[in-house]
Amino acid sequence: MEKSRSGRLGYPVVPMSQGPTVYLETFGCQMNELDSELVRGQLRSLGYRFVADPARADVVLYNTCSVREQAENKAYSRLGLIGMRKKAGEHVILGVLGCMAERDGADMLRRFPQVDLLCGPGELDRLPALLDNVRRTEGASREERIALAGNKSRRSATLAAAEDQLELLDLSRAFDPAAPGADHRSAYVRITRGCNKFCTYCVVPNTRGAEVHRPPDSIVDECKRLVDAGVVEITLLGQTVNHYRYTHGKAVGVEGVELPQVGPGLSAFRSPIPAGERVTTFAELLRRIHDEVPALRRLRFVTSYPRDFGDDILDVMAASPRICRYIHAPAQSGSDRILKLMNRGYTRGEYLEFIARVTEKLPDCTIAGDIIVGFPTETEADFEETVSLVRAVPFKNNFIFKYSPRPGTTAITRFEDDVPTDVKKLRNNILLDVQSEVSARVHASWVGKTVEVLVESSEDDSEAADADTQTSESKTDASLGAGEHGATRATIALPQFGAQNQPRRSTASGVASGRAPHARCVGRTQGDLIVAIDVTGTPDWAMTLKPGSLISVEIRGSAPLLLRGRPVKTAAAAF
Ligand code: SAM
Ligand code: SF4
Repeated sequence: MEKSRSGRLGYPVVPMSQGPTVYLETFGCQMNELDSELVRGQLRSLGYRFVADPARADVVLYNTCSVREQAENKAYSRLGLIGMRKKAGEHVILGVLGCMAERDGADMLRRFPQVDLLCGPGELDRLPALLDNVRRTEGASREERIALAGNKSRRSATLAAAEDQLELLDLSRAFDPAAPGADHRSAYVRITRGCNKFCTYCVVPNTRGAEVHRPPDSIVDECKRLVDAGVVEITLLGQTVNHYRYTHGKAVGVEGVELPQVGPGLSAFRSPIPAGERVTTFAELLRRIHDEVPALRRLRFVTSYPRDFGDDILDVMAASPRICRYIHAPAQSGSDRILKLMNRGYTRGEYLEFIARVTEKLPDCTIAGDIIVGFPTETEADFEETVSLVRAVPFKNNFIFKYSPRPGTTAITRFEDDVPTDVKKLRNNILLDVQSEVSARVHASWVGKTVEVLVESSEDDSEAADADTQTSESKTDASLGAGEHGATRATIALPQFGAQNQPRRSTASGVASGRAPHARCVGRTQGDLIVAIDVTGTPDWAMTLKPGSLISVEIRGSAPLLLRGRPVKTAAAAF
């Protein structure tokens, strides 16, 4: 028998030779994508093997999202399918991770007896132990077997930071260049967990707990390690990143190591830092990462809160060429009345003032956002205010969501969901059209410029579909509307160049094999604009572009969702 060993977080390791197979599917936002990456790394280090087909898995895990009903329904239907397999006598362990596990808890177990394990987002460090428990208690009664975690909402507020194993989970990660989607060498780094804003429609403060800020040294170290492992682009993650604030000396563990700490109240952002306090603000954190990790080619961050986004952040961005000129700052509505009911904490005027500061200090910055239509009591006049806001701001894209009443939120208890579904749909479609016009204008303004592009995919076959219908954004209806939040960073399908383009030449593999030549690749600008790159007739180096390459591209055309261009030169040695 293989010797038992201890994993990175001290959990039992299953024998490598017979490690169970795991299928893990992720729903929802970038936070969930990062959580899944951490879970994968953690379980791999313990001997579990990941497979792409749930039918071949001993363990099926769904990392779920509760932000909107649509995402939950998808997860429920997956549970139904596994339930059928189990009923047919198949042996498979089914685990629900993430927000639905946290929120539904015992109710989910009652409704879905096929579920063996629940693990909320604040408990992911315990997943190996929970899985181990399920595996060891096979054959016992259901009550004894269920490994239930979760239901510890807002635990970090009360948990001694020193016990917070979640920090260890983040720190234990290793960038895996072989992981699916890792080839363009982008990675997420969490700076803040949870949220304290309590927007009335949103489940996040309940499912992800109180706002906890990671120590800046841990964040900088993680960035360094990722870059050493080949990462080109890092996206810092937080629900309201600009509210990152770490007061030194307040949460210190053994040997003076700084620990995660609960975030300050909103008032902290409205008054000067008290004398004698040493604080790392978000601006300072950006500056530190930019300066202390010089090999990092791109630094991005999401999501920005339109309130308290100070000039100090814009100044650091302006002075730091490797910080991307991109701000995702959801407005949610253009109506002051609705913003108040949403408890967003800013007015339409303050939002517009913020955007004016951004465009003045960073004229090349692109702006993206989220909008909710059909919030309770939203009138035609409120909606018109939103339409005019979308017209007034140079949004590259907006995720447009139809209001979805969520259990546990203030809005569901306080307001009737009184905007009829067909009105929500109509407003959604009207806004999609308006956003499409705005997006087209924003994209057209880049024609004639030369931009730095990070290549995300390249191909030499003819399977590519039309760019305007097959980019990730439009596939999920997201850039223009109703898709999963965060889908802008999903894999981009390769576009086909139109008939007006030159005959196709090949990428590197096409040249080597002597096949009919054509070449294209797709990447993103610093401002997150998708660029379809035609390398037809370009020098040889352009024919060998790989995902992860940084190149300069001259923009020659545009569409509502993308730019088209030709490579000019390699931007730098990022290969
Ligand atoms: N923290 C970010 C912020 O404050 O802008 C947003 C995070 S939230 C998980 C992502 C987006 O989902 C929100 O910006 C909002 O537009 C949308 N959303 C959240 N709850 C929703 C609900 N109940 N119905 C419809 N859309 C919702
Ligand atoms: Fe939800 Fe508001 Fe927090 Fe964003 S800021 S996660 S919308 S509560």
